[in-house]
Amino acid sequence: MNRKTFLKNLTVTAAGVSLLFPKKYFGQSTGVVTAETKPKPTGGKRAIILGGGLAGLYSAYLLKQTGYDVTVVERGENFGGRIATYQNPELGIVQDLGGEWISENQTDIKSLVKQLGLELVNSNIADRFSLTKANQEYHKISSTSIDTLDKVIDLHKSLGANQKQGLDKINFSSYARYQGLSEDEIQSMNDLYRIILGADLNQISSESVLDDLSALQSALKPKYQVKAGAFQIIQSLVSQLKGQELLTGETAVKVSQQKNQVSVELQSGRSLKGNLVVCTLPTSALLDIKWTPTLPKDLIYSALRMQTGKISKNLCFVKSNANLSNFFQNTTTAAETLYVSDLAMGSNITALTSISTGDKASLFEKGTDRQKKNLMVSALEEVGNLDLIAENPFHFHSFQKSTGRPGFVSLFPPGSYGIKDVWNEPFERVFFAGEHLALHTGSMDSAVASAIQAISKT
Ligand SMILES: Cc1cc2nc3c(=O)[nH]c(=O)nc-3n(C[C@H](O)[C@H](O)[C@H](O)COP(=O)(O)OP(=O)(O)OC[C@H]3O[C@@H](n4cnc5c(N)ncnc54)[C@H](O)[C@@H]3O)c2cc1C
Repeated sequence: MNRKTFLKNLTVTAAGVSLLFPKKYFGQSTGVVTAETKPKPTGGKRAIILGGGLAGLYSAYLLKQTGYDVTVVERGENFGGRIATYQNPELGIVQDLGGEWISENQTDIKSLVKQLGLELVNSNIADRFSLTKANQEYHKISSTSIDTLDKVIDLHKSLGANQKQGLDKINFSSYARYQGLSEDEIQSMNDLYRIILGADLNQISSESVLDDLSALQSALKPKYQVKAGAFQIIQSLVSQLKGQELLTGETAVKVSQQKNQVSVELQSGRSLKGNLVVCTLPTSALLDIKWTPTLPKDLIYSALRMQTGKISKNLCFVKSNANLSNFFQNTTTAAETLYVSDLAMGSNITALTSISTGDKASLFEKGTDRQKKNLMVSALEEVGNLDLIAENPFHFHSFQKSTGRPGFVSLFPPGSYGIKDVWNEPFERVFFAGEHLALHTGSMDSAVASAIQAISKT
């Protein structure tokens, strides 16, 4: 079943059920039609989902809708993976520590948020960074170069596989230089894209950037965020999976496929059996698993070719003032870029967020609290005129601690042309999903799209 038919069938099921049940039977906070509201005989079918991030939970949710009992295995103490939200209702502050911004054309995540009865609010962050002609002065990219980029993107659409493979051998910065962009312009593009990709454009295949550029352009113009934080999506999906087996603090270490079933062994020694597995683990985690039969070579090579752009967000709390509502500043320190989201402005205290990438992000993932404080303080000194509050002035977040991997988005370096495609087909009873496998990678939208893609094949 292709993705379109699959989604259409799900909608038809949901519409059918809503005719049968009066409104009060639907979850009040979510309004979503679930197997909870209309129990379906499962026929004993069980799916095991590896990873309890967005792709994993949404896969579980879709499988439950299609009649499976599901077991979700998450190694962290909490679900959510690279989605986490800092919330302080007393101060009136909400700030996402992982996935946050959603752009207009990210339709899969937008419709999931709507389906879950959650609210999107406008985010004005894009006014502060965007690669548009209007902002060319600020970002120092000439209109001629923007025109060149537009032409290159257009041209790319008509290229054949051979030409694309050729482009894939060069990194994007070199290609942009070849197209006539100046060093300053390339630097400006790097500054912008690092916030989204966690890496420089010179680490990425020009083919992959051109393929993704329109998606990236729109990622650079995010319009929305989830009102009470992106973690609401996770909480809502978890509550939709009530009655299913949801395991946290359990690491999958072995996957063995037999003729009619697949078993998953957990580090705790527990063994799970199911009809199929959906594996949403990032590729590096996937290679830590012992597979029987072993993973096909093309999957192993593909996993080894994918790379990650490290990205870490941390908070410091300052006294609120009106100037903070548009705050967005690059610094030369490890805290790199500082910004204030609308939801992070309390009446007295505001959470200022830092985004660090690459090696700078590693300093935040690995450093002691004292070192991290020093890094934040030097960023604040560079920005000036911000009144750090005296009590608990920082909140540091480590995805390494919660998921076993630092915060990151997946990247496709030169030589990675076509490597995603090999994950489209299941490996016997194992189906693959995760942000890194969607058509356009690196976002919450990708995680949702990858789940739809994987489940439509089951
Ligand atoms: C700092 C940061 C900022 C971001 N900003 C944005 C943004 O503004 N907008 C946007 O759209 N996206 C953003 N993203 C990207 C977005 O958050 C991710 O693309 C998305 O959440 C990935 O979901 P996933 O389910 O594919 O992977 P994950 O969330 O990584 O889920 C995989 C899960 O597998 C678990 N796991 C790993 N190994 C095992 C094992 N052996 N057994 C069991 N479980 C295991 C992990 O603990 C994890 O929970 C950001 C990411 C980061 C890090």
